[in-house]
Amino acid sequence: MSILLVEDSPIDARMIGTYLNEWGLEFITVESGTAAWDLLQRPDGPRLVLLDWVLPGIDGIELCRRIRTLGSNGTYIYAVMLTAKDKKQDLLTAMAAGADDYLSKPVDPSELRARVLAGKRIIDLQQSLRFAATHDFLTQILNRAEILAALKRELSRSKRDGKPAAIILADVDHFKQINDSLGHAAGDEVLKEIARRLKSELRPYDVVGRYGGEEFLLILPNCNLVTAIRRADEIRFLVSRDVILTPLAKIPVTMSMGITVTHSGFDTMEDLLQQADVALYRAKQNGRNCVQGLEETEGMHRV
Ligand code: GH3
Ligand code: MG
Ligand code: MG
Ligand code: MG
Repeated sequence: MSILLVEDSPIDARMIGTYLNEWGLEFITVESGTAAWDLLQRPDGPRLVLLDWVLPGIDGIELCRRIRTLGSNGTYIYAVMLTAKDKKQDLLTAMAAGADDYLSKPVDPSELRARVLAGKRIIDLQQSLRFAATHDFLTQILNRAEILAALKRELSRSKRDGKPAAIILADVDHFKQINDSLGHAAGDEVLKEIARRLKSELRPYDVVGRYGGEEFLLILPNCNLVTAIRRADEIRFLVSRDVILTPLAKIPVTMSMGITVTHSGFDTMEDLLQQADVALYRAKQNGRNCVQGLEETEGMHRV
């Protein structure tokens, strides 16, 4: 994670930059509030920001206010105000606008270092809490709520762009037998390894989450049914190619997959999930270890 330094005075920027470099902290410098705001709105933007108060364009106080409107994607931005203003009222104004901390200029390097490190601790803690809230504890992939949120986003994007997205519901075959014969801990190891394999087969813009016990949901943006069936079959093959090594046994695993795609723009999440489920059921009926696609229209005519 890099730090954002917003400072319009080249002398101050150089001095603070020298300190940050000395402490091995990565940072980016911008000279205006407008440039800072552009960076801060990016999903992978800086999480810790050192802000000058008086700036061209958007000033430090207004930036703090705007930063506090960003929270909706769940990531916290820690803001430290650096300024020559040093009255108590200034501090209160900055904190009320949303600053987490405040340092008067000229900046004392040891104080700056202590405050930056305190900020980093908060950011690290917030990120690990956020990870825990959005990921499945056992498999470390997205949890059910998050994969469903991703599906919802993908559905509106598909509607907007008029491009299909594919949904794959993947279920481990005869998983109960693994638990029954080797124990729950071996079952857990299998789930972890399957999640790792699924993830490693996906492209950066595809997503996978744990939908339920031994069921995984994959979303492939901008993918039609024919392509999705081919991709699902590759993934199915690669997941089952090698046995899973656990302390107790070498465990062979296979998966069945049900696939559907969005297109018309009329499909709801519930429809899509149900179509994928119907397709999965057919894959199980067809002898497992295979994939099945289901056209949206078919799903709409279900009884
Ligand atoms: P099928 O091929 O029809 O899908 O059969 P199956 O045995 O995989 O399906 P079934 O639904 O009968 O069993 C799923 C099992 O998964 C039952 C449940 O105890 C187990 N399970 C669910 N979550 C976990 C988990 O986190 N860890 C372990 N070890 N087992 C789990
Ligand atoms: Mg200034
Ligand atoms: Mg199941
Ligand atoms: Mg199963």
